[in-house]
Amino acid sequence: MPQSAHEEYRGRLDRVREQMERTGVDCLLVGPSTDLLYLTGLEARQSERMKILMVPRDGEPRFVIPAFELPHLEALPPLFEAAPWEDGDQPAELLASLLPRNGKAATVAVGAQLHTHFTLRIQDAAPDARYVSGEAVLEAARMRKTPYEVATLRAASEAADRVFEQLIELPIEGRSERDVLAEIRRLLVANGHDALTGGGIVGFGANGASPHHHASERRAAAGDAAVVDYGGVLGGYHSDTTRTFHLGAPSDEFRTVYEIVAEANDAAVAAAGPGVTAEQVDRVARGVIERAGYGERFLHRTGHGIGLDGHEAPYLVAGDTTVLEEGMTFSIEPGVYLDGRFGVRIEDIVVVTADGVDRLNRSTHELMVV
Ligand code: ZN
Ligand code: ZN
Repeated sequence: MPQSAHEEYRGRLDRVREQMERTGVDCLLVGPSTDLLYLTGLEARQSERMKILMVPRDGEPRFVIPAFELPHLEALPPLFEAAPWEDGDQPAELLASLLPRNGKAATVAVGAQLHTHFTLRIQDAAPDARYVSGEAVLEAARMRKTPYEVATLRAASEAADRVFEQLIELPIEGRSERDVLAEIRRLLVANGHDALTGGGIVGFGANGASPHHHASERRAAAGDAAVVDYGGVLGGYHSDTTRTFHLGAPSDEFRTVYEIVAEANDAAVAAAGPGVTAEQVDRVARGVIERAGYGERFLHRTGHGIGLDGHEAPYLVAGDTTVLEEGMTFSIEPGVYLDGRFGVRIEDIVVVTADGVDRLNRSTHELMVV
């Protein structure tokens, strides 16, 4: 955390309040989730007991929390006041009593990650309020990262790059996808990640043609292309990178497809920057692949935002008209997938700067033949 955690979280609260102002929201409810982590630094566990941060547009946020969990709040910046409850109390009624009342029905925004059964109880306890999705408020605030968040994402990406650089030096031939994925997970931790995510993709040969392939017992053999897509969590923030390499001499078509995907990645990086929309970046990457005749084989969007969640707004896909702004972080990951043969994907995380984007992943785009 920066010199002053207090300042960092104060700044985040201000961002969220700006969005509440913009969208006419009187108060925001957030349960255990990355939204809560974003606002308080608290990694709260979800349970049947109600734990909800209530952020009014004006006034002090209140944290409805079981009394015996109050020690969890001790290390947090003092930006809210606890509203503890005991087993046997009715926390939904406690929360309802805290909702702002300005002589009219409050507009209450509910965080996208708040469990439905809590929302329903609150609606019962405060039937006069108007309930709306908190997605717009939280996404808009969280999309534009603070300098501290960008620095942490950069450290996570650099650690992920070292993983690839070390992996490519190891013997791969004869090893199974599962074994190589386990190796990647070991390397992620060895390079500073403090948590792993459930995912991770290792696809050899034809398995690489399935973008979300689940690692299997398939062993790498000479003549296979290999797609590795992995990430973890460092200081709360996600890394996510994909590289494609080849075991033994590649075919001419593999080389051609690899070049096209690398070019699509470069073109998207060159096109992205402040004032450009998320969907425009997708269009640029897709255009390169379409013109080369592989448009039908680019099976997914060009990228996704990244931060406290591995996938978050904005999404680089037709229909996402988010205008990119300095501090936004997202992946650029075009791919081409040829059924029964091979897949190629190259994925980097980038951050929007004053005049373009900066790549946070720097491991090589050169075709590595091992
Ligand atoms: Zn990925
Ligand atoms: Zn990704």
